[in-house]
Amino acid sequence: MKRTRLALLLLPLALHSQSGFQLPTPKPIAPPPMPAPGQPARAPAPAKAGEPASPAPGSYPKNCDRCEDYPKLMKELKEQEWLRSKFHEYSPWSSYQLSASDVEDLQRRVTRSFNEWLNTPAGGGGAGAPAMGTNPDDCTLVFFVKGPDGKTTIKPYDEKWMRDHYCPTVLAFMKAHEASHQRTCRELGAKNKNFLTRPEFVAADEVKAYEAGIRVLEKAINDLAKRCHEEGTTATYKLDPNQKISPSTVYKTEEEARRIADLLERQQREADAQKNKNQGRK
Ligand SMILES: [Zn+2]
Repeated sequence: MKRTRLALLLLPLALHSQSGFQLPTPKPIAPPPMPAPGQPARAPAPAKAGEPASPAPGSYPKNCDRCEDYPKLMKELKEQEWLRSKFHEYSPWSSYQLSASDVEDLQRRVTRSFNEWLNTPAGGGGAGAPAMGTNPDDCTLVFFVKGPDGKTTIKPYDEKWMRDHYCPTVLAFMKAHEASHQRTCRELGAKNKNFLTRPEFVAADEVKAYEAGIRVLEKAINDLAKRCHEEGTTATYKLDPNQKISPSTVYKTEEEARRIADLLERQQREADAQKNKNQGRK
């Protein structure tokens, strides 16, 4: 079955910021504006074509296992929790669910709120920028790379590049975040993949992904706290760690999940029919 892919490719990457960060200026190369964990938010250094946006020098600690790194990790945790909570507001699990017209709109809204929050004293200043993501076609880890023309292309994930740019703790929680998306992607299967075009479903999947990252981050922080005689922290969670992300767990009722599945199927059929018609005309 042919599908219009790109819209649903933009599985959330996570946002991250550091104090004093500027809103990312248009950069030659960057993944789509989707919140992803742990990515430095300072305007990335101009990247060479085909290379993912790189953090500005010094924008993210090369080390995150020294006592002096403790406050940075705590700040990171606070941001990840904030983003998780914001996505939760757009999920069907929220009792006052916010709506977004599509996945891109969801990304835009969350990014905007995040940046607003960061620029308040509570947020510590800065702005978010994205990093790596999950390709829903095959559920693999990839880089989304935005070219100078604004078009996003998918590049293979490069572990070495990531290791060169992020300290192990940050990379670990980013990977836990993406692994959660990958799990959802695999479990949805081809039949239900269209749910990744639904903003409320994607928002729910983000809640899960952020919480997976937060667990890793919380543990790293508390390990460091022990070593450094700091107090440590207790992260808050909205989901049970075993919570799966599927239409029936995201929507309030099975009936609603089915109704949306039918709607998505109908839309897909119409899109396919339209495509065939257009091809026939050529
Ligand atoms: Zn995500």
